[in-house]
Parts: sequence; C-alpha cells; structure tokens
Amino acid sequence: APLNLISFCQEITEVMQMKAAGQKNIIFNNAGECNLIYMDEELIYCILTNLISNAVKYSPPQSNIWFNLTFEGDMAIFQVKDEGIGIPETDQVNLFQTFYRASNARRIQGTGLGLAMVKKCVDLHGGEINLESQQDVGTTVIVKLPLNYSGKSE
Ligand code: ATP
Ligand code: MG
Repeated sequence: APLNLISFCQEITEVMQMKAAGQKNIIFNNAGECNLIYMDEELIYCILTNLISNAVKYSPPQSNIWFNLTFEGDMAIFQVKDEGIGIPETDQVNLFQTFYRASNARRIQGTGLGLAMVKKCVDLHGGEINLESQQDVGTTVIVKLPLNYSGKSE
C-alpha cells in the first residue's frame, strides 16, 4: 500500500519518544515534499526503530536525538544523529556483522544484531547506509532509499 513517509516518520518519532520515557528528546525534522510512495512499511519501520533505539541506548540522559528526513531526486534520506558514546574507529568497519559490538559498548546490554538487520533491510530496498562516528562525541547514521522502488533485479 502507498505510504505517507512524512507522517509515518512522525508516528515513529512519537512511539520512540514514548519508549524513551522522557529520558531523551527526539527531534523530528523534515524538508521537502513527498507524494504517497511505495516502500515496505515493515522494513522502513525496522530500519528506523533500530537506528533510533541505538541512538537512545548509547547516549546520556536528557540528550537530544535528531531524526531528519529529506528528499534528493528520487531518494529519501534519513539521518539519525546522537551525542552519545560514539564508536571507536577500529570498530566501525565491523558494525554490520552479526553479533558484533564495539569495545566501548560492552557495559550496555545488546545482542549486536540490530545493525546487521538494518543493513539487510536497506539492501532489500536497494538503498545504502553510511555511518559517521567519533568516540565520546556522537554518531550519525545516514540511510538513503529509492522512492517508488520498482523491485528491478540486477
Ligand atoms: P541489539 O541487537 O539489541 O540492537 P546492539 O545495539 O549491541 O544490540 P547493533 O544495533 O547491531 O547491536 O549495534 C552494533 C554495535 O554498534 C553496538 O553494540 C554499539 O557498539 C555500536 N553502536 C550502534 N549504534 C550506536 C550509536 N548510536 N552510538 C554508539 N554506538 C553504537
Ligand atoms: Mg542496537
């Protein structure tokens, strides 16, 4: 079914803000317009909730998390930015492997499957994912997904 991506992202923000129970401040911004589009709602939900829950989990109480949605050509660009513990450079290349957890995250609970799952969902949608992070400064994850993806095979 066609999806209104902007209101869908607004709803996700509300759900994640409720889960964070006042511990974090999730700020949603969007720029540009978007018609109803065809994307897999479950996959987008999986991608965004995993990224936002990481941002919530790995950042200090009362910090801000920025969730941005913009459009570039026929791509939707999602950005999730936090001011949390960040990821050491040596760990960054391995993050999309199953069960991998960075050295500075071990005292925080997790299975190390979230980002591996996100990567699979992004691949299924023909998109790309990039991560920029600096230890003790913060992390930004950028996901680009084609709009009206026709499901063409390669
Ligand atoms: P879960 O399977 O419950 O999501 P997880 O959060 O440990 O467990 P991933 O979401 O796959 O696993 O993330 C892998 C690792 O990447 C984390 O263990 C953590 O070291 C690092 N990481 C991911 N997101 C962030 C973030 N926003 N800030 C800091 N570190 C992060
Ligand atoms: Mg996770």
